Amino acid sequence: MTDENRFLGEAIALARANIAKGGRPFGAVLVQDGKVIATAVNEIHTSNAPTSHAEMNVIRAASRKRGTSDLKGSAVYASGHPCPMCMAAMRLAGVDKVFYAYSNDDGAPFGLSTAAIYEDLAKPFADQSMAIRYVPVRPEGEMDLYAEWTEARNRQE
Ligand SMILES: [Zn+2]
Repeated sequence: MTDENRFLGEAIALARANIAKGGRPFGAVLVQDGKVIATAVNEIHTSNAPTSHAEMNVIRAASRKRGTSDLKGSAVYASGHPCPMCMAAMRLAGVDKVFYAYSNDDGAPFGLSTAAIYEDLAKPFADQSMAIRYVPVRPEGEMDLYAEWTEARNRQE
């Protein structure tokens, strides 16, 4: 059995176990150097946190375990098509490879597709369904926020 099949099989088993606990059918496995670093499931049913997706949770668990926010060189195996939030989070974490077993097309008949969000996000801000505005507020008499951060970092070095 290939690594892809084995780890995706594990993600699906996690998703199945999550269904049995009243959760959504999503599981994820994070692998580095051929070893499983962390596993996670969708926990919206217990946390009510809308961002508690399996991929977000597996990144959180793996970085905590590794003691670093940099998961470069890792791969995430997800039972379902990662949503845009998770896809972005995996990029921010440095994940190199993403594999998924069920696509948005597979999930659509079951209400488990995020294709509409991908489509919306591909549009310019002005055409998206959520109101997004750039409002460059700079409180008077205060240092520029980002300049302050740079200064603080330089002090720490
Ligand atoms: Zn997600």
